[in-house]
Amino acid sequence: MNLRLALLTGTCLSLTIPALAAPALAEEVNVYSHRQPELVQPLFDAFTKETGIAVNVAFVDKGMVERLVAEGDRSPADLVMTVDIARLTQVVDAGVTQAVDDPALNAAIPPAFRDPDGHWFSLTARARIVYAAKDRVAPADVTTYEDLADPKWKGRICTRSGTSDYNVALTAAYLAHHGEEATKTWLEGLKANLARKPEGGDRDQVKAIWAGQCDISLGNTYYMGKMLSDPEQKAWAESVNIVFPVFEGGGTHMNISGVAMTKAAPNHDAALKLMEFLASDEAQEIYAQTNHEFPIKPGVARSELVASWGDFTPDTLTLKEVADLRPAALKLVEEVNFDG
Ligand code: FE
Repeated sequence: MNLRLALLTGTCLSLTIPALAAPALAEEVNVYSHRQPELVQPLFDAFTKETGIAVNVAFVDKGMVERLVAEGDRSPADLVMTVDIARLTQVVDAGVTQAVDDPALNAAIPPAFRDPDGHWFSLTARARIVYAAKDRVAPADVTTYEDLADPKWKGRICTRSGTSDYNVALTAAYLAHHGEEATKTWLEGLKANLARKPEGGDRDQVKAIWAGQCDISLGNTYYMGKMLSDPEQKAWAESVNIVFPVFEGGGTHMNISGVAMTKAAPNHDAALKLMEFLASDEAQEIYAQTNHEFPIKPGVARSELVASWGDFTPDTLTLKEVADLRPAALKLVEEVNFDG
């Protein structure tokens, strides 16, 4: 494996060391991943099988940006993989990525889902939707994000922290659609409707619906797939419907997972091959089937489960617009003391 990667691996990282188990391979790619091992490993295995290029992955839970900045030009990392447009653009804004202009990537990933300057590329998409109690909420009762602030939901909504990346992105989208005053009013209304103070992750809110503590919650789509494949959480998932709310005058809020090439990229060419692979039909299908996300590449089928939720209208805001309003959105969330 790459020696520098090993030396630089700190205590907050876990590292898989494929080279110890397999014969040495001539080419390799080093990836810093914020995504979970069980999700990305099948993709890397398929890539290595096809190309003979080894993938060394360090799972970086916290401090991705700080780490890349500290390592600078000597970073062993070639690629960064993360979820949420906010985290992806934070890496880019820190100046530790390089532009990639590649015909295969540009053909596979629609323009709205990649940086116009080539510093980041989406690989999958997810919608931030409403989980609604099957026995207490008719799907037609939930239509818009704006409506979540209506007093008819008083004491009936659960959500994770307002400062979580997913909710900040949703708030940033609200801000883009309606401006500051309306967004503040919405956050206050939403807060007033909460059944309990924000806590836990998206799945904990569905558990609370199952337990009768609230009737609807905000969550990302793929968690439905995760819950259904977990023996303990299956019942939570089966107690709710997925409803796709829209913004008035827009569509359903989308976010992404994506990849960026580091400025250092010691294995540039091999890293580019991995990026191309991740945007290929084969990898997009693995993503769709194993994590129930929406493939980014047009024409790649959704998983059976995802397809069963039916079609919806994705919002028209670009990811860049959402990312740019993130600081302003976070400020509003803090101003209304959303979690307090
Ligand atoms: Fe998540």
